[in-house]
Amino acid sequence: MALRAVSAQLGSDPLLVQAAGGNTSIKLEGVMWIKASGTWLRDAAEKEIFVPLDLKSLTEALRDGNPDCESCTAFVRQDLNPQGLRPSIETSVHGLMSQKVVLHVHCVNTIAWMILKGAQEKVVPLMTGLNWAFVPYARPGLQLSRAIRAVILPETNVLLLQNHGLAVAGGTVAEAAQLLREVVGRLRRNVQSLPPVNLPALRQSAPEGFHAPANVNAHGFALLPWATFLACYNVYYPDHAVFLGTQMPSGPQPGSPVVVLPGQGVFIRNDARPAVESMLGCLTDVFSRLSPSDELKALTPEEIALLLNWDAEKYRQSLKLG
Ligand SMILES: [Zn+2]
Repeated sequence: MALRAVSAQLGSDPLLVQAAGGNTSIKLEGVMWIKASGTWLRDAAEKEIFVPLDLKSLTEALRDGNPDCESCTAFVRQDLNPQGLRPSIETSVHGLMSQKVVLHVHCVNTIAWMILKGAQEKVVPLMTGLNWAFVPYARPGLQLSRAIRAVILPETNVLLLQNHGLAVAGGTVAEAAQLLREVVGRLRRNVQSLPPVNLPALRQSAPEGFHAPANVNAHGFALLPWATFLACYNVYYPDHAVFLGTQMPSGPQPGSPVVVLPGQGVFIRNDARPAVESMLGCLTDVFSRLSPSDELKALTPEEIALLLNWDAEKYRQSLKLG
């Protein structure tokens, strides 16, 4: 129950979780309960969002690098899963941390650090005294589980995931939540103020079939000239590619859910998934924590292709819940 409350709290904070991103888990009596694919953490208090996995077979498979760890569906305790939920695409992160409770978030402060070139060295002074490990970028699934296994120790309870986010673990929900606050506090970055968006003017120039979102945060990155260019032509973390595509055009284009007018704001296709607005807000929250002099590491075209052609990711997109 405590995990449901904390999950709903994390899921309601856009600085920690956007849309269906992030996930939480608890290991209880041989079963690991983890957020199901496509569900939203913020719904944790009202809906069943957790799916049960057999902990022993999951742990053994992760240890052996078994290909079933790609989706982890083979480990679902179907007898305890009447709704037929499927495990999060990031289940391996939770299975590889030995502690009882794991919280994984797409914290924008962490992301702002983790997309910098030389991120690992840059955070060392901030993480003194913590049992943390830096995990080089890897596609969620089997590749990410390999990358974590290469760096994790039994006592590691903080993972900083390059071009991705943060995972913390603890013996209780309260302990994990406290550690999350501690790490986020250490990684907090200065926020630069953004020029105001002129929503009424923007609304008048919306292309047919598009609208200017009411949430001003969705527009912010488009008001920073240096950030607009980087955000429109690069992908810095997986959910960006999944929900916003690999490029954001300045006019309507088939397949793109957004139009970005540099210096003015953004338009969202009227039939776009709710996650699109959340992911635009995430760009603003990340880029307002960076400066033009920061050197960034984007995902490579190969990394993006691997991400978008992945079956489990296709499944998540097909749910249309994002
Ligand atoms: Zn993640």
